[in-house]
Amino acid sequence: MKIAGIEAKKVVLPLAKEFRISLGAVANFEAVFVKVITDEGLFGYGEASPFAYVTGETCETVIDAISYISKALTGLDPFSIEAIHRTMDRVTARNGSAKAAIDIALYDIMSKAAGVPLYKFLGGSQSNVETDMTISIDDPQIMGQEAKDLSNSGFRMLKIKAGGNREADLEAIDLIRKNAPNAHLKIDANQGWKPAQALEMARAYEKYGVQSIEQPVPAWDLDGLAYVRRHSPIPIMADESCFTPQDAFKIAKLEAADIINIKLMKCGGIYRALQICSVAESAGIPCMVGCMMESRIAIAAGAALVASHPNIILADLDSFVELENKNLATGGFEFDTPVIKLGDASGLGVETRLFE
Ligand code: MG
Repeated sequence: MKIAGIEAKKVVLPLAKEFRISLGAVANFEAVFVKVITDEGLFGYGEASPFAYVTGETCETVIDAISYISKALTGLDPFSIEAIHRTMDRVTARNGSAKAAIDIALYDIMSKAAGVPLYKFLGGSQSNVETDMTISIDDPQIMGQEAKDLSNSGFRMLKIKAGGNREADLEAIDLIRKNAPNAHLKIDANQGWKPAQALEMARAYEKYGVQSIEQPVPAWDLDGLAYVRRHSPIPIMADESCFTPQDAFKIAKLEAADIINIKLMKCGGIYRALQICSVAESAGIPCMVGCMMESRIAIAAGAALVASHPNIILADLDSFVELENKNLATGGFEFDTPVIKLGDASGLGVETRLFE
């Protein structure tokens, strides 16, 4: 079997509610859907969800990168995933989302060819993945109300965006804890603090039973991250500081994090995500799989990854909930709040009419 062509199409949808984190706000869902076609008629779907603040990519740069990459991949066997990643890395450095879209489509093809769902193709044996739900930065009263509504709708884990205004962050956690007394709470500061500030916040968050603080300091500051991790009463998670297996190794060496947040869009897809997971596991660091503003295609891939690996202990795969009923893509899994139930269809099991 050979790769015969790669199509990429941009999708834009206005979000019902702006999504705000300490790095900025997102008003639209923007993604690039990818279809990889083989000479045997088998095809696979992938999705790139670039987030310029984090990966430095936009939909336009993704489409451009894919046009370069696709020339180099035409004629290769989709099962040659190692050679394909090396080829992609030679064509262009970084561009994680563009590479992830192709990688996901190739895993869709490989698992379809094998006649098994992707999570089984990856070695997984259980198909249920519980996700948390994210509360973006807003008026603390609104965030508190959201926590109540989400808990009532069945979510047991909430991830709270912080790292903006100190007083507002603390007012929000106070209301959220009151409104969701039993919820597993995680904080994500998205690089919003300096190390000393991060420690002060960690100590203030301690009494609320917060389970982890994600990316408290700037992505580049691994020493700062290690400092916070050494002194924080709450476990520290690395997100924007970890794009590659080499980043995971450096984090492990510096003992800079207790948990690593893997995202397909940062690392370039499932193949590299598994490598990060292995490095982390070897160092005794568990992982979470998170997401950008991703729809069903990338979320189905992320959930299959979670289901396949026991070192992935948490899933933050909630972005598709916003996009339900928009019919961008269907299948892949059923969502029984808060559990993503992966289906029995071979491959990702996802369909889209975008390429018709
Ligand atoms: Mg994060």
